[in-house]
Amino acid sequence: MTEKRIDLLSLDTHELTGLLTSWNEPVYRVKQIQRWLYHELADDFAAMSNLPQALRARLAQETRLGALTPLVTQKSADGLTQKTLFQMTDGQTVETVLMRYLDTPGSPAEAADAAQVTRRTVCISTQVGCPVGCPFCETGQAGFIRNLTLGEIVAQVLYFARQEKRAGHALPLTNLVIMGMGEPFMKFNVTWRALEAFTDPARLGLGARRITVSTSGYVDGIRQLAEKDLQVNLAVSLHAADDALRDELVPVNRKYPLRELMRACRDYVRATHRRVTFEYALMDGINDSPAHAQAVAQLLHGMLCHVNLIPLNPTSASAYRRTSAARVKQFENSLRAANIPTTLRVEKGIEIAAGCGQLRQQMSRRAAERQAA
Ligand code: SAH
Ligand code: SF4
Repeated sequence: MTEKRIDLLSLDTHELTGLLTSWNEPVYRVKQIQRWLYHELADDFAAMSNLPQALRARLAQETRLGALTPLVTQKSADGLTQKTLFQMTDGQTVETVLMRYLDTPGSPAEAADAAQVTRRTVCISTQVGCPVGCPFCETGQAGFIRNLTLGEIVAQVLYFARQEKRAGHALPLTNLVIMGMGEPFMKFNVTWRALEAFTDPARLGLGARRITVSTSGYVDGIRQLAEKDLQVNLAVSLHAADDALRDELVPVNRKYPLRELMRACRDYVRATHRRVTFEYALMDGINDSPAHAQAVAQLLHGMLCHVNLIPLNPTSASAYRRTSAARVKQFENSLRAANIPTTLRVEKGIEIAAGCGQLRQQMSRRAAERQAA
């Protein structure tokens, strides 16, 4: 059965006002409802005590508070990382990760529920699958199904915000990264509307500087973001500094080759005065030699940027392997020596398949096995 009710999380302030006006409701109801949705984190219309009974009943009948049902949750051994697979109304699934960080690394497992957690980052998805098809990425290998709606993107954040609030945390979420399944700039408009929902004080009200959006290199999206007056962080998945290799590792490079990508990034820096983060997943024998490091340094020379080296999270379907720790260090040192600010990403929850799209793949493999049995 297709879902007919309006997803309230898919409406911006203007659209919600339009809906309520068409119901002959006073405009101040918009603020009241948004407060319940995004500040009080209500998951039930019955809780919206300052709304008249009749309005609550109508809302419950004709609208819904998001469209995600949690299916499976996995936690890392230290309890700090949690990944949840959600089902949407058409049966498709999408995954979201919550990463908690401690003030004092190495604290015991119970810390997940304790006050030592100083940062809570949600990693959200924008598509079911991904059409870019990077060969080392589980999502890319699974093919593309569809784009998520604004409501489905916002609901991922609200789910974790509600969960952390229920656990008694005063500051449920601190950071947000759009680095889950999918390419966020393929549908720039939806991603932009999501960024508005996250930063709008009447809705989630997160600081733009605490939000990072990662693209595989959609030049159009980078250019559109550069024109917006919102201080979100931009990350670009580089993974290779020459076109031949990048064509293979990040196939969107065939459409937007490095020259165009770098021009867009440099223009972005000029327009926004913000640095760009380049992600570089090190793959054994593929893109991790000293010559590769030198090529990266040359490509980024003189640019306001930062390189984030990522240890590859090996996926079941690909032959790509992780670079040894010694070689990672060597790569990092070469970039630093060339004056490129470089950090090594701390791994989070590899054992719960925290890599992009891996839980979803695991579940569909299990379902296929069950069917075959
Ligand atoms: N589609 C966007 C955002 C989601 S992927 C993009 O590609 O930028 C987020 C980051 O995880 C990207 O840098 C991506 O290249 C990286 N990634 C994907 N699969 C990975 C894997 N198996 N191991 C390490 N990083 C991976
Ligand atoms: Fe898509 Fe990003 Fe995965 Fe590439 S790495 S397939 S762009 S989700």
